[in-house]
Amino acid sequence: MKLFNLVIDPGHGGTDTGATTGDLHEKDINLDLGLKLRHMVEKFGLPWDVYMTRVDDMTITQSKRGAYSKSVNADLVLSIHVNSFTDPDTNGAMVFHWPDNEFGKEVADSISLAIPKTLRRMSNQGRVERSREATKELWPRVRYVLSKHQAATILVETGFITSSWDRSALLNKAVQTQLICAMLIGVGRTWEIVDTAKRRIEQ
Ligand SMILES: [Zn+2]
Repeated sequence: MKLFNLVIDPGHGGTDTGATTGDLHEKDINLDLGLKLRHMVEKFGLPWDVYMTRVDDMTITQSKRGAYSKSVNADLVLSIHVNSFTDPDTNGAMVFHWPDNEFGKEVADSISLAIPKTLRRMSNQGRVERSREATKELWPRVRYVLSKHQAATILVETGFITSSWDRSALLNKAVQTQLICAMLIGVGRTWEIVDTAKRRIEQ
């Protein structure tokens, strides 16, 4: 029996397109990355059971996603999203966890550190300010997603669909692979923590 249950949650889907620019929809990028992440777990033969809240373009509520992660006894939920903001210069990935949750923080930090350089936030003072503004605007929605899951949940905003820099990065296969590796590192960190704890209980 595998001891670690990972739920991959590609955000949005179906009638809920998520953020859009032209005919590029967030829901499609999320699903693409989610399926590639699952594929990578299988390819590496990692001893994790992977569950997905959706594997196609279907509409699914946050409550249903939460009920699903509970029903499969998730150890970690990884929710994948793409950000948007009014300022097209604001860019970069952001990784969120439940506030004051040490475990979530550790996992989120592992992912953040491994995020490919291309998807790091460009930093000059103006940009830092704006990305702070974007985070403030985004937080209630992130909090809502996180609140629906009983298990530790990490939400990765992989980049901004409104930034042409991020858009081309997110559609680039090499960057996608690096991004998925960053998520794998974070999940690996969780696995390590959960595995140690479970072994301790078994002893
Ligand atoms: Zn989203």
